[in-house]
Amino acid sequence: MNSKSLSFIFILLSIYLTNALPLYKRSCSKSHKVVKGDTCHKIWTKYGLSESKLRSLNPGISCSSLKIGASVCVGSGSVSYNSSCSSHYTVANGDTCYKIWSKYGLSESKLRSLNPGISCSSLKKGDKVCVAGGSNNNSGSSCKSHYTVGKGDTCYKIWTKYGINEATLRNLNPGLSCSSIRPGQELCVKNSSTSNNGNKGSPSSSFTWYKECNTPNTFAITFDDGPYKYDNDLLDLLKKKGVKATFFINGDNVSDIRNSSIRSIIKRMYNEGHNVLSHTWSHKDLTKVSDTKFRSELKLLEDQIYDIIGKRPKAIRPPYGSNNSKVINNLKYFGYSYGILWHVDTEDWSNLGNVSKIHNFVKKGLETSKSPIILNHSFYKDISREKLLKAVEDEIDYLKGKGFKGVNMETCIGHSVYRSSGEGFPN
Ligand SMILES: [Zn+2]
Repeated sequence: MNSKSLSFIFILLSIYLTNALPLYKRSCSKSHKVVKGDTCHKIWTKYGLSESKLRSLNPGISCSSLKIGASVCVGSGSVSYNSSCSSHYTVANGDTCYKIWSKYGLSESKLRSLNPGISCSSLKKGDKVCVAGGSNNNSGSSCKSHYTVGKGDTCYKIWTKYGINEATLRNLNPGLSCSSIRPGQELCVKNSSTSNNGNKGSPSSSFTWYKECNTPNTFAITFDDGPYKYDNDLLDLLKKKGVKATFFINGDNVSDIRNSSIRSIIKRMYNEGHNVLSHTWSHKDLTKVSDTKFRSELKLLEDQIYDIIGKRPKAIRPPYGSNNSKVINNLKYFGYSYGILWHVDTEDWSNLGNVSKIHNFVKKGLETSKSPIILNHSFYKDISREKLLKAVEDEIDYLKGKGFKGVNMETCIGHSVYRSSGEGFPN
């Protein structure tokens, strides 16, 4: 090797070492300036840290080439995150990594990549966690148009100016903190691929409400607010009666969808030919939530449903049936095509499963529809296995006696109620 190539290698090495200098970032609560004779061992001992803690506070630190004058993070009170972090979250009491990544619609691996060395088992109140990466996250090629924040600008002014809504602005700028936008900051206000971004999912071009099935002499029995522990008994009954049903489930309402027994009920529902559709994550009135909350109410549940049955719903029953034009626009934006209401409300929740009252509501409903969608619940106050099964069996026997066939929502409306495979949640 001649001296030319040696010096070339030396230059490369210098570039590498320079780039491998300690990388602690703004969240560091305490730093140490490297002096002559310092070693990593000396530093972590001096500040009562372990080697792994020092490394987690300084991702990429090269202990064999510590440079005099370089800063090393030694503040153990904060979680380090990489330099491109554009939004932080301050850990509160009771927070877990799971809560944080769910709250921000991230995955575990995304949270970890934004916070190298984060120790989820020892999160402390006041720790700063990076929840969005990239300088404003809009530097990617997908942003078609940027806006530079001016003095006095607010998020509201900006999304109004560009004719977009809050959800869109936030989707274009993940991690955007509207309370702290500053003049000179660049925000993405238009995405080149909002209309068709393949496996990211795309907005729906139309939205239709249903209260009845499209096929005469069918009925669609639906159960809201579950899963609940009696759903397995309900599934036995439906199987015995040869009826397909639809379950509008929640993620975290009366049951927690992360619970394995609940997941196996959902799997069984799907495997036995029933439809499993969205009733939102936590049963909030969608006309009363922020756009950010709206998004998470859909996405958190969808991601779990996808994890369990491998399908994403594009039909939803909004909690309380509550909706307005803004709800519809948001649902479309997030890829939903069908809103499912009902023609018959059995009022099982208010009459506490009273069989004769439920029977009368169904009977009355048949006077005005030959293909009703019927609202029941998997859970209501004072529910018992016996009450639930007795009322549902009575409903089914009555409808079948009239010559009606019990079908799932897909058959009822004559459209697929799930997105095509590979289609994810719109960004
Ligand atoms: Zn409900």
